[in-house]
Amino acid sequence: MPDLALLGGSRAVKTDPGDMFTWPIVTKEVEEAVLEVLRAGKMSDIDVTQRFEEEFAKWHGVKYALAHNNGTSAIHSAMFGLGIGHGDEVICPSLTYWASCLPVYSLGGTVVFADVDPETLCIDPKDVERRITERTKAIVAVHYTGMPADMDAIMEIARRRRLKVIEDASHAHGALYKGRLVGTIGDVACFSIMSGKSFAAGEGGMMITNDRRVYERAVVFGHYERHSSTIQLEDLKAGAGLPWGGYKYRMHQLTSAVGIVQLKKYKGEMEEIDRAMNYFWDRLEGVPGMRAHRPPRGSGTTKGGWYAPLGHYKSEELGGLSIHRFCEALRAEGVPSSPGGNQPLHLHPIFNTIDVDGQGRPTSVDVRQPPGSLPVSESVGEKIFSVPWFKHYRPKVIDEYVEACRKVAENYEDLLPGDVGRKEGEGGWGLTSRLRRR
Ligand SMILES: *Cc1c(COP(=O)(O)O)cnc(C)c1O
Repeated sequence: MPDLALLGGSRAVKTDPGDMFTWPIVTKEVEEAVLEVLRAGKMSDIDVTQRFEEEFAKWHGVKYALAHNNGTSAIHSAMFGLGIGHGDEVICPSLTYWASCLPVYSLGGTVVFADVDPETLCIDPKDVERRITERTKAIVAVHYTGMPADMDAIMEIARRRRLKVIEDASHAHGALYKGRLVGTIGDVACFSIMSGKSFAAGEGGMMITNDRRVYERAVVFGHYERHSSTIQLEDLKAGAGLPWGGYKYRMHQLTSAVGIVQLKKYKGEMEEIDRAMNYFWDRLEGVPGMRAHRPPRGSGTTKGGWYAPLGHYKSEELGGLSIHRFCEALRAEGVPSSPGGNQPLHLHPIFNTIDVDGQGRPTSVDVRQPPGSLPVSESVGEKIFSVPWFKHYRPKVIDEYVEACRKVAENYEDLLPGDVGRKEGEGGWGLTSRLRRR
C-alpha cells in the first residue's frame, strides 16, 4: 500500500477534475435567455418571473408559486403567509442555515430549536413533540443536504397539535419522499435557488403552496406590484397598494430567465448527479470509518441534486482517529472534504446573549437553549464530513476518489501519531462557501 500523501506519499487523485465540480452548468441557452431579458430592459418587470412561477408550480403539481429575490425572503413571506406574528414560536432544527428560522424575528416571533436525527440529520419528530408549547405556531422541516425529513411523522404531529408545516427545501429540489416531491407535503414550502444550490438560478427563492390564503398573504407582504391583479380575498383587498411587511421581494428577471432554462435541464442534471453519487457510495461499501448519508434503496426516497453531500464518520472503526485528521488526509490525497456541516444555531450569541430588539434581553430569552440541550446537533461536527459533490457520472474519475478514501481508511494507523483533533477556524454558519466552483 503506497504512503499517504499527508505523510509525504503521492496523491491518489491524479486526474484533473476538469468540469466535474463546476456549478452551475451554464449553457448557450442560459446565456441567451439572460441576454434577451437584459437587452429588452426587463430586469424589473414580472412577466418572465410569472412564466417561471407557472412552470415551477406545474413541476410540483401545486396551485401557487411566488418568486422572491432570495430564499430567505421566501421563508419570511411564508411565515407571514401562515399568520405567524407577535409572541409566536416556530420549531426548527438547530442544524440548518439560519434563514430557515431567523426571519421570524422580524415578525415578532421567536425560534425554539429541536434536535436532529443522527442518521438522517433532519429534524427529529420525537424532539419536536417535546418542544411544543401553547405559543407554537409552526414546524420548519429542513430536508438537510438533500435528505428528506420524516414527513409522515411531522405531518401527523402537526395535524394532532394543530400546527402548520413549512418545508425548507433549499437543499433538496427534486428530491422524493416516499415517491412524493418534497415541498408538496407541508402547508407551504420554500426553495433557495441561489447559485450554490442544486437548482441554481442566481440570487432567488421560490415559495409554493396550495393554500390561497397563504399565497395571497405572501403577495401582500412583499409583492405590492401585483396586489390588484392577484388579491381576491376581501379582507386583504382593503390593504392593497402598499406592502404590508414594508418589504420589496420580487425576483430579478435575470434569475427568472435562468430559472426557466434550469427547469428544462435540471431533471437530467439531477439524475446524473444521483447516479454519480450512488456509484461513489456503492464503491465505498464496507470501507471502515465511512458510511453514506443517503436514503435506503427502494424506499422511493431520493436526494434530488445531492446538495453539499455528507458522509457519516465512524472514528471508533479507525482506532479513534479524529475526523479533523481524517479529512486533512483526504484533502492531501486530492479529495475535497472537511468536518461537520452547519454549526448548531442554538449556540449562537443572538439566541443567548445579544439584545436584538432592544428589550434588555435576548429575543429568545424564554426559550434559551444552553449547551447540552440539543446533544445530536452539538455532536455532528465530529461525526459528519463533506464528500466530493460529483456533477457527472464518470466512473473512471470517481474511482480515483474512491481509492483515495480507501487508502486513507486502510492506513489510518499511520495517522494516529500527530493527531491533535480540532484546529481553530474550522466550521461555519453556511455550507456554500466550501463548495466554491473550481
Ligand atoms: C440557502 C438556504 C436558505 C436561504 O436562501 P438564500 O437564497 O441564500 O437567501 C434557506 N434555507 C436553507 C436550508 C438554505 O440552505
